Amino acid sequence: MVGKSLADLRIFNRAALLKLLYYNAEAKLSRKEIATRLNLTPAAVSHIVKDMLEEGVLIERGTVEDTRLGRREIVLDIDLTKFLVMSAYIPARDICISCIDLAGNVHFEKLLYYDSLMSGSDIVRAVCAEMIEYIDTLPEERKKCVIGAGFGIKGICDNEKGISVTSFGLWEDNLPVREIAHKCLNGLNVLIDNDIRCIAGAEMLFRPNRDSHSMLFAKYGPLVGGGFLLGGELYRGYSYSAMELGHFIVEPLGSICRCGKRGCLETVAGFDVIKNTVRLHYSRARTPILYEITKGDADNITYDDIMHCYNNDEELVTKVLDGALDFFALMLVNAIGLVNPEKVMLYGFPFESERLMHTLIEKLSELSHNKLSAKVLKSSRNMQLDNLGCAAIVFIDFFEKGAIYRDII
Ligand SMILES: [Zn+2]
Repeated sequence: MVGKSLADLRIFNRAALLKLLYYNAEAKLSRKEIATRLNLTPAAVSHIVKDMLEEGVLIERGTVEDTRLGRREIVLDIDLTKFLVMSAYIPARDICISCIDLAGNVHFEKLLYYDSLMSGSDIVRAVCAEMIEYIDTLPEERKKCVIGAGFGIKGICDNEKGISVTSFGLWEDNLPVREIAHKCLNGLNVLIDNDIRCIAGAEMLFRPNRDSHSMLFAKYGPLVGGGFLLGGELYRGYSYSAMELGHFIVEPLGSICRCGKRGCLETVAGFDVIKNTVRLHYSRARTPILYEITKGDADNITYDDIMHCYNNDEELVTKVLDGALDFFALMLVNAIGLVNPEKVMLYGFPFESERLMHTLIEKLSELSHNKLSAKVLKSSRNMQLDNLGCAAIVFIDFFEKGAIYRDII
């Protein structure tokens, strides 16, 4: 470790140990096995483990037989329920505030709506006030276990400076969310990121078979977003706008997108666009199932109704949605070609439809001439990761810092 101080080395080794234990939960690792896997001396591992047991980061959990020596070794694990993170999921002015532990348990959840009269900084302060109110209800010992707050915000976020660069109309540009929240939360560690990227982090952190292999995460419905995970980390790009899958240009002469470009994927495959196209053809004769469930009023059409009609093979709805899927599949094949992930994880309400999943996989196979290099799967916790995502970015950072947090309130 040339050029690293002893303190850096300590953090590096602690982080490696945490990631090893977390992403190999089924492996039942003893001190000895950890030393082998991390290429550290048994004495070094014992020293690190001793500290982390005293801090309550690690726990001893049963024993495992060492076949080489014929004796039993103590198994180590991370205490998944000890540390808490406050989360604010902000995809719009409907904001969900929650408190989550590393096992993915939700200890508190509150949905709030902030009207358009409130500025972004007012909203961040109001969200922090709710968080403080909850933290104040915790016993003193538990308060010390709150390691940070994560904000998942629509749009482009500079996660290093903690600034919401542009939120596409949610609130003012260049909002210093972290600075405001850090102050309001009495110095608590605050991290922010794009809302979809946060969910991608949750997909990596909270899925049942945890591993840190490369994964492209694609969210669809109502809009399109994505994230790329590699080696247990989220890839953000030079100016924090990597994997903006919804803004891949698919029709250069198409409609103007909310990002300012023309013909982005969202302008042809967003669910509002699909809904509007279906509305144009809405009638008792052309869309009988939709007409029936919406009681003859096109204003009643919901995304659920569109999926219901698709699943029941309503001809016109199927044609419109399959047309959108053509563009979605095109984007996905190109994105897979770009980052070459092991897996593609699909997230969003459309993927609850087996028919849609089947159609999409067929389109992907066709476009790639049956040579698709990645496994394409529906998220194992589809539609359940929104809130967990904002906590995930804090836990991922917690691992990277070797569970050493100085700013504990
Ligand atoms: Zn766009």
